[in-house]
Amino acid sequence: MEKILVTGATGFIASHLILQLLDRGYEVRGTARSTEKAGRLNEILSDYAGRKVEIEIVAADLGSDEGWGEAVKGVSYVHHVASPFPAETPKSADELIVPARDGALRVLKAAKAEGVKRVVLTSSFAAISYGWGDQRPDVLTEVHWSKPDRLDDNTAYTRSKTIAEKAAWDYVTGEGAGLELSVINPVAVFGPVMSEDVSSSLQLISQPLQGKLPAFPKLNFGVVDVRDVARAHIEAMVRPEANGERFICGGDLLWMEEVGDILREAFPDRKIPKGTLPSWLVRLFARVNPPLKQILPELGRKRAYSNEKLKSVLGIEPIPADEAVRASAESLIRVGAV
Ligand code: NDP
Repeated sequence: MEKILVTGATGFIASHLILQLLDRGYEVRGTARSTEKAGRLNEILSDYAGRKVEIEIVAADLGSDEGWGEAVKGVSYVHHVASPFPAETPKSADELIVPARDGALRVLKAAKAEGVKRVVLTSSFAAISYGWGDQRPDVLTEVHWSKPDRLDDNTAYTRSKTIAEKAAWDYVTGEGAGLELSVINPVAVFGPVMSEDVSSSLQLISQPLQGKLPAFPKLNFGVVDVRDVARAHIEAMVRPEANGERFICGGDLLWMEEVGDILREAFPDRKIPKGTLPSWLVRLFARVNPPLKQILPELGRKRAYSNEKLKSVLGIEPIPADEAVRASAESLIRVGAV
């Protein structure tokens, strides 16, 4: 049985990836930086899966060399999913950039030294669609790269994802030549959560469910279900033609107001906001609602993309966005997060 390493095992995407890998008959090891969270992981996975799940967990932090050698021991493939994804903007961009970039390099170097066949890296659509200003192509594809130095159209997080992915490609085309790399670039990831400790992307669902905003920011984003993101990682691992490629992992584009329509229809008892907030007001709200700061570069912008490669090379037909939104909301309610 081949052994697979999943970094950041406690996370939203990683949890689904772990269960799908187990379903496909692989043995899975995970890394976690928090022993407290790691201690609950098998219980959370078991509760969600409805069967006993017990994976091995190794302690490793992106900010330190410790643990990575042990983590990759005897594994055939690595999914490097861990990266800082805070709900709030940090004081310094380096708080995200340094662990994202140096952590990716630590994982790649350990994988190379161990003779791992391929690393699948979880990057982001953020590494494709930011920093273009007025020059942004109408339809973004995998040939496009964000420009992390244009600070007016980036956040610390979007910069961290671009810089980390670039460093990974530079490594495998230089010092790390011979190690295979495939990259997944997801848009906003929704779908079922397993615990109340939820990824930042779920704020786009939990905030309206909690009635935290009077109306919706003029925000447009691509949606993908976490179950498709997990599947994309596995297809990118097993398909020979995925080596050396990046894949935009996204389905339908939605306006935030449309998320509200889906939620209102599915949960008629909840008070879901209606209508659009003027962008100047969102900027004002962001002063007292820090998660909103992250979306300021998005206001009024539509970043359209092609998911052709996801379909044709990885064979994934994305779950419709309304289903992903509903699945998020139902699970957030079930685990008591909203
Ligand atoms: P989560 O916050 O649920 O998962 C992030 C994981 O990374 C957690 O396990 C976290 O550990 C770990 N991590 C963060 N910082 C460190 C560190 N310094 N050392 C070790 N581990 C660390 O988010 P997602 O599952 O949504 O995100 C997973 C990946 O997907 C990230 O790379 C993110 O950038 C990317 N992504 C996510 C999207 C989304 O919409 N959700 C969209 C596009 C990309 P801990 O649990 O201890 O905090």
